[in-house]
Amino acid sequence: MRDVLTALAKLWKIDEAAKGYDEELRSLPVKMDAMRADVRMLESLLASERAQVEEADALKASRIADLQERREAIARAKSKVSRARTLKEADAAEREIEATRRLMSDREREIAQLGVTVEAKRETLAEREKQLGEALALAEDETKAGEARLAEVREARETVVVGRDELVAALPRRVVKRYEKLRARDKYYPVSIIAEPTCVSCRMAIPAQLFIEIKRADPTEGPVDVEDLPTCPHCHAFLVHRDLIEPPPPAEG
Ligand SMILES: [Zn+2]
Repeated sequence: MRDVLTALAKLWKIDEAAKGYDEELRSLPVKMDAMRADVRMLESLLASERAQVEEADALKASRIADLQERREAIARAKSKVSRARTLKEADAAEREIEATRRLMSDREREIAQLGVTVEAKRETLAEREKQLGEALALAEDETKAGEARLAEVREARETVVVGRDELVAALPRRVVKRYEKLRARDKYYPVSIIAEPTCVSCRMAIPAQLFIEIKRADPTEGPVDVEDLPTCPHCHAFLVHRDLIEPPPPAEG
């Protein structure tokens, strides 16, 4: 039974060492995706600001064209006045000129207002373009750094999990199955490596008789069933004495 317990403790140590790397391999891509999403949001903001400027520009151009038409209309009306044969005709032409002038002054005010609006929007646009440029540069740097880190973590993880497959292959199948089930829990460890009669997984006291058995760690070889292995009565973690994986220094004298 002792070899099974030792293998279980080693397996747990490997998995615990790989845990941080696994977490990073999960969380880093999520962080990188979030950053890319931020950049895409800035890009879409920029596109909408750009569309607004184009819209305001187009409106201003159409108002300027309209103003030009009014100018031509006044010129035509003036020639009508000069060609008028009756007072009535002259009056009508004068009134037309007057109405057109009022419209023109409305248009001029509108064009000036549009000019101010377009100017303000252009400033916002320039600011957004600057922000996007910075965000793109940052995202590129962070992506490079993130990818380098992921490669580093994958490599480090590979080093840490060396020998895991062999350990798993050597353990009874039912023990591995139970171990994996226990490992999936968040609150407790699957293996509790103890030096004192207290479970390190749940912090509960371990009965004296059980602790003696754990310390003895039956060295008999032969088939071991999962039910034979000592487990914590509270959190069900496999219990392994620390001396099994870190043998104490030989007694002096
Ligand atoms: Zn426990």
